[in-house]
Amino acid sequence: MELNENYINQIVQNVVKNLENAAPQQRLKGVFDSMTDALEAVNKAYQFYRSYSIAQREKMIANIRKLTLEEAETLAKLGVEETGMGRVSDKIIKHQLVANKTPGTEDLKPTALTGDDGLTLVEMAPFGVIGSITPSTNPSETVICNSIGMIAGGNGVVFNPHPNACRTANYAVDLVNRAIVEAGGPENLVVSVAKPTMDTSKEMMASPIVRMLVATGGPGVVRTLLSSGKKAIGAGAGNPPVIVDDTADVAKAGRDIVLGASFDNNLPCIAEKECFAFSNIADELIDSMIKNGAYMIDGDQVERLKKIALIEKDGKFGINKKWVGKDASLFLKELGIDSDAKLIICETDEMHPFVQVEMMMPILAIVRVNSIEEAIKMAVNAEHGNRHSAHIHSKNIDHLTAFAKAVETTIFVKNAPSYAGIGAGGEGYTTFTIAGPTGEGLTAAHSFTRARRCVMVDGLHII
Ligand code: NAD
Repeated sequence: MELNENYINQIVQNVVKNLENAAPQQRLKGVFDSMTDALEAVNKAYQFYRSYSIAQREKMIANIRKLTLEEAETLAKLGVEETGMGRVSDKIIKHQLVANKTPGTEDLKPTALTGDDGLTLVEMAPFGVIGSITPSTNPSETVICNSIGMIAGGNGVVFNPHPNACRTANYAVDLVNRAIVEAGGPENLVVSVAKPTMDTSKEMMASPIVRMLVATGGPGVVRTLLSSGKKAIGAGAGNPPVIVDDTADVAKAGRDIVLGASFDNNLPCIAEKECFAFSNIADELIDSMIKNGAYMIDGDQVERLKKIALIEKDGKFGINKKWVGKDASLFLKELGIDSDAKLIICETDEMHPFVQVEMMMPILAIVRVNSIEEAIKMAVNAEHGNRHSAHIHSKNIDHLTAFAKAVETTIFVKNAPSYAGIGAGGEGYTTFTIAGPTGEGLTAAHSFTRARRCVMVDGLHII
C-alpha cells in the first residue's frame, strides 16, 4: 500500500484516539500504564539524582511548594469530586499546610563525634527508591507531603495510590514532576501507575528496585507492608478521643472540638472522634458546640443515624463506606432535618459504635463521666491501642499528665483543635504520614534516610 499523506494522517489520528480512550492518564507526567515501566523509569531517574547537590534538591522542593500553593484549589476540588468525601475549603487549607510546613533538607541533621582517635561523621543518606501506598482520605496531600520528604532525603518515589482516589493522587504526581523538571531535576523521580491495583501493589513491594516501603492507611495495608520483609514505615488507623474536664475553658473547648471534628468532615486520622465530658460541665459544653455550628440529635434519631452510617455484621459494626467524609447536612437530610450544621453531636454510652468505631464522618458522640480516672479508662479503651492521637481540654496539670501517660499516643493535643497536632495553629512541622505502629512518629525527610558512618582515625580532629 502506498504511504501517502492522507494515509499517514489517518494512522496518527487513530493512534491519538486509541491513546485517549485506552489511557487518558498517560499524558500525566510520571504516571505509567504498568508498574514495571514505572519502576524502570524511577530507577533511572534515581541514578541521575544521586549526583544532585543539596541545593539542587532544595530548588526542586521550593518549586513543588510553589505549584502546590498555586494549584491548591484545583487539587482540593479534584479530591472532593473524585472521592465524594471532604470539603473543598478544608482541603485547600490542607494543601497549604503541606506546601508551607513539610520539612525539606534542613531536617537532615548530621552528627559528628570527635576525640583523641579522630573524627567520625554520621550522615543521613538516601534509601534509594521508596514505594509508597497512599489513602483515599488525603490523596494528593499525602503524595505531595511524602514526595517533599522523600526527595529531601535524596530518594526517588513510586506511588501505588488508593484506586478510588487515583485521579487526584496522579494529578499530584504530575504536579510534582512538573515542578521538579522546571527546577532542573530529572524526569520521573516520582512515579505512579494509571490504574493502581493489588497486583501493582504486590509488584511494587516485591521489586528489588524498591528499598523501603511506606504505608499510609488502615490496618490492612500496614500489616501487609510490615510482613514484606523490607524496611517499612507503617502509618495506620486511629480513633482519637477527646476529654473535657471541669477545669477547662468549656466555651473554648466546645468551639475547638467542633473545629477539629468537623474539619474536612472528620476524614483526618487525628480528628476528635469521640468525646468524654465531665457530667458537671457537659450541658455547657454541648451548648458551646451548638453555638459553634454543631447539631444535637437524640433518642430515636441516634439509632436511625446508626443504621445509615454503620453496617452490622455478626454483631459487629463497620462503617458504611458510602457515607465516609460526607457533609453533616446530608446525614441530617436523611433524618428529615434541614440544617447546614458542620457536625452532628449526640449523647451515647461508652460502648456505642459511634464511640468505638473509627467512622471518619462528621458525627461526634459525647459520653458523660464523673472523674478523670473514668474518662481516661474509657478514652484509652476507645483508642484501641492504636497509640495514634488523643486530645484533652483541661487546666489541671495532673489530669493532662495522667491522660498523656496512659494513652501513649504519637500525638497529644492540649486545649486546641486536633489539627494543632500537625502544625495548624500549633508549633511544629506538618506531615500526612503519622507512623505510630513503627515508631517514626510524624515522618519527615530524616525518616526516609539511612544513617551512614564515616570514620577518620588520627586526623581532622582539631583540638
Ligand atoms: P485504606 O486502608 O482503605 O487504604 C489505604 C491504601 O492501602 C490504599 O492505597 C489501598 O488501596 C491500600 N491497601 C489496602 N489494603 C491493602 C493491602 N492488603 N495490601 C496492599 N495495599 C492495600 O485507607 P483509606 O480508607 O484510604 O484511609 C483511611 C484510613 O487510613 C483510616 O484508618 C485512617 O486512620 C488511616 N490514615 C492514617 C494516616 C496516618 O498518617 N497514620 C493518614 C491517613 C489515613
